[in-house]
Amino acid sequence: MKVTKFGGSSLANAFQIQKVCNIVLSDDDRKIMVVSAPGKRTKDDTKVTDLLIAVAKARLAGNEYEKELQAVLDRYIEIADELNIEKVLPGIEDKLRKIADADYTDDIKYLDSVKAMGEDCCARLVAYYLNASGHKARYCDPAEYGLYLEHDVQGKAVILDESYTNLAKLAEDTDTISVFPGFYGVSKNGEIITFSRGGSDITGSILAAAVNAEVYENWTDVDNVFAVNPSLVKNPFPITEITYDEMRELSYAGFTVLHEEAISPVFSKGIPLNIKNTNNPSAKGTWIVSKRTHYDSLVTGIAGDKGFATITVDKYLMNHQVGFLADLLKIFAEEGLSIDHIPSGIDTVTIVLRKKYFTQEKEERIVNRIEKELGAKCKVDRDLAIVMIVGEAMANSVGIMARAATALSNAGINLRIVNQGASEISMMFGVSESYCSYAVRVLYKELFRY
Ligand code: ASP
Repeated sequence: MKVTKFGGSSLANAFQIQKVCNIVLSDDDRKIMVVSAPGKRTKDDTKVTDLLIAVAKARLAGNEYEKELQAVLDRYIEIADELNIEKVLPGIEDKLRKIADADYTDDIKYLDSVKAMGEDCCARLVAYYLNASGHKARYCDPAEYGLYLEHDVQGKAVILDESYTNLAKLAEDTDTISVFPGFYGVSKNGEIITFSRGGSDITGSILAAAVNAEVYENWTDVDNVFAVNPSLVKNPFPITEITYDEMRELSYAGFTVLHEEAISPVFSKGIPLNIKNTNNPSAKGTWIVSKRTHYDSLVTGIAGDKGFATITVDKYLMNHQVGFLADLLKIFAEEGLSIDHIPSGIDTVTIVLRKKYFTQEKEERIVNRIEKELGAKCKVDRDLAIVMIVGEAMANSVGIMARAATALSNAGINLRIVNQGASEISMMFGVSESYCSYAVRVLYKELFRY
């Protein structure tokens, strides 16, 4: 059994939805499909999810929201009209209005429930269309199938383990195509919880793991994942094969092809993930696997991401003080902050974390605690981008760090942090945010245009 997930651009209009259905119908093993909300039809268009966010924001601000809601409905009307399935529309409108008009005293819960409707309505529409064209299909309600989520300490949606057992029943009826909405699940109380943006990738991965799929196909609008963001470099090197570990590192550092959290469910089961192009289904795409069969290049990919902060903690004779690091890390744990990297010197240690969680309020509290409880000095810097060079083949070759550092230095880029883990799968450079894209381009030129 193959689990297929289709992104927003693959479902943006009736023509794309027809392509998606043809892809699913062309292979008998494609029995479970996960759909995103309809995305942009043109470059300047608005995604349905963003239209829904506008509905929720208007309502939360106490404003009239009919115009915003109509904009969402218009997208489904256009699709249903072209597919000749207008009968699906009253059900969609009814559901949308009920959710949009519901209680909004808890703004986060309200926003989540409205946001999820892009996927929900899309799944209803696709299942309806398949049935109308003579193929057995069903819309799968995540609440009914037991896709349970909760929020972790940082407010992120995480899956409850029992969901995997619940969702395994999707594999039972192989006669029918299951159409599952991506991006959201429910709490044990039945309240809708969404993943972060792009989260339908996670739903697909969860379903693939739950049914022990032979492959998780993630259908998007590019033939391959590229070694570098194509908006930074012309005709970048295509990646035909990449390991979960490499992909995880690249997604962490800003690769947007796949959601960062989408690797883990399939990784735990060793299910290969194939990224494919809805507009060119015969292209082989990129395979994300546990073990490589070949290497096309020494470096697999280069990525950069802004939005990091550093706290450098300084205390004379730190290296002699037993338990100093444990006490320092405890402060971050107690403040509910996860740490990304910890480069250190003899008497200094730097904590690198994401700015979006390290609010000004947390900064004040943490700095205060470090100074008072540990008697150390602190310096906070909120201008850090992380650039990563990733590739398993690097483990057996000499001189890549030297080439990378020389290229960056020749380009006048100051390296604030350098880190290479013992696994040698990646090298990390910390640079000022304004140098992020430039550093990625410099490294790509050096390491791919040999
Ligand atoms: N529709 C959601 C978004 O635009 C989730 C997804 O497409 O994966 O982020």
